[in-house]
Amino acid sequence: MKKIDIAKNLAAIKKEIKKSQLIAVTKYSPVEDVKEAYVAKHYDFGENRVQDLKEKAEAFFNEKLDRVRWHFIGHLQTNKVRELLKIPKLFAIHSVDSLSLLEEMLKRENDFTGPELKIFFQVNTSHEIEKSGFENSDELKRAIDLLLGRGKSKFKFEGLMTMGTIRTNDFEAEATRCFRDLNAIARSLEESYHLKNSLKLSMGMSQDYKLALLAGSDYIRVGSAIFKSQNH
Ligand SMILES: *Cc1c(COP(=O)(O)O)cnc(C)c1O
Repeated sequence: MKKIDIAKNLAAIKKEIKKSQLIAVTKYSPVEDVKEAYVAKHYDFGENRVQDLKEKAEAFFNEKLDRVRWHFIGHLQTNKVRELLKIPKLFAIHSVDSLSLLEEMLKRENDFTGPELKIFFQVNTSHEIEKSGFENSDELKRAIDLLLGRGKSKFKFEGLMTMGTIRTNDFEAEATRCFRDLNAIARSLEESYHLKNSLKLSMGMSQDYKLALLAGSDYIRVGSAIFKSQNH
């Protein structure tokens, strides 16, 4: 069996992305593989389950691997909010997908002990039923009003997140449409909230990150292309 060269995969993707950030998604990977990436000087990692993130983050914390920045990217249930906010070195939540979830997070803000938490609102640009995310701009705006209206807060409105359509005959065209839609929504929100080009876009996975970069992605979230052997 051929060993996967994690450091090489990371370096190859980083060469392609220039100014954007790479989040290495570790949901299929044991903590040893994540440490291997850390040793190769990669520090941004994404997980989509609170329990898995907690286990990895605690292992890192206990070994004082403290340059790590954890990104939560999965659907978050309100009853898991406290547990998530307490995780050491939590850096961003990319998947805030409803007003009620945001309300719960704001109620629990004191459980977060880090310096700042970046918040992305997830938008359902593909309109597929199983995808989470804001579907209408009124609810999204109410969530933004609530977050920005807090005054002094550790929760920072960082940007928007989306995923491309899965069920389609033209994967590339659909992904590009989703990414361009997200970009247009962000630019229009910047205008209405006077945010001056400050919103970041979290979009692009192993299959479609090149298209996402062309559409202006700031954070790509890539798992299998880094951690999984391509021909197993
Ligand atoms: C799993 C996952 C990714 C990474 O997917 P790959 O296809 O392995 O690159 C990115 N974003 C989210 C929200 C995910 O759940």
